[in-house]
Amino acid sequence: MSDQTLITIPARKGKAARVKKGQIIKVINTHGEQVVDTWAFNQDDLNEFMSMEHSRPHILKVNPKVGDTMLTNKRRPILTFVEDTAGAVHDTLMAACDRYRYELLGCKEHHDNCTDNLHAAMHELGLHAPETPSPLNLFMNIPVHDDDSLSFDPPVSTKGSYVLLRAEMDLVIAFSACPQDIVPINGKGLKPTEAHFQVLS
Ligand SMILES: [Zn+2]
Repeated sequence: MSDQTLITIPARKGKAARVKKGQIIKVINTHGEQVVDTWAFNQDDLNEFMSMEHSRPHILKVNPKVGDTMLTNKRRPILTFVEDTAGAVHDTLMAACDRYRYELLGCKEHHDNCTDNLHAAMHELGLHAPETPSPLNLFMNIPVHDDDSLSFDPPVSTKGSYVLLRAEMDLVIAFSACPQDIVPINGKGLKPTEAHFQVLS
């Protein structure tokens, strides 16, 4: 894929695409306050994937910045932050939301969730994700406070802000426009929205 088509990540849903080594992925926070859970898998071996716990000891940050390269669970480069107009606040600490998260939050019926969205997006490409790695949560604001506590805060990103990520291997990128509407991680309006991405050549 290199036609630079603007691809929609529907509100509350996921989308995946194949990306070649060297291509740049532009992830756009179209409406400004939407968290986008992001996964990357080695196209030749889906058992190798971007890993937050392997990336943090490499970048020595909980919040990656421009110039930082994320690693796989085999400690190989997979995605590099090339540009960031979204306030440089992202999250590497929180697991993807899932049915259990919403059950704990009191949901009695099905709630869309990023875990199901990852697997559905991969299935759309005829692929099967072997597990649900901890995602790179783009635009997600999880501040580490002075007393070491964490909180779910609204994004600092703005409408149309974006990040550019360079693929360091042939990979499958997967996104979920997080459907969280109980805690204000997608803004105080509690209204998850769509987001968009482009694969630039
Ligand atoms: Zn989510």
